[in-house]
Amino acid sequence: MPKHTPSMAKNKIRRSLVSIIDPYPSKSEVDQLWEYFESRCAYCGISINRGSRTGHLDHLIPSSEGGSNSIYNHALSCARWVIPRKLTAVKSRIFS
Ligand SMILES: [Zn+2]
Repeated sequence: MPKHTPSMAKNKIRRSLVSIIDPYPSKSEVDQLWEYFESRCAYCGISINRGSRTGHLDHLIPSSEGGSNSIYNHALSCARWVIPRKLTAVKSRIFS
């Protein structure tokens, strides 16, 4: 299998262009998110050690559904909420 297929190249180009128009949160914005959520998972409240790299910035509205990379569309979450998109419905109920 080739290292880079045309499809992979297309996705990389698309992500690069999107990052210009809709940049990911800056380091200071990421710091603000950690502070806002008091280093706790927004969904289950578990304490997350920032140095452990188990915390994630999760899109509240997935980018596949039109959600932006804005700081306002992110929540701090532990690893168990990152996995399935199936949980989107659960997240929607929590934040509605
Ligand atoms: Zn959690």
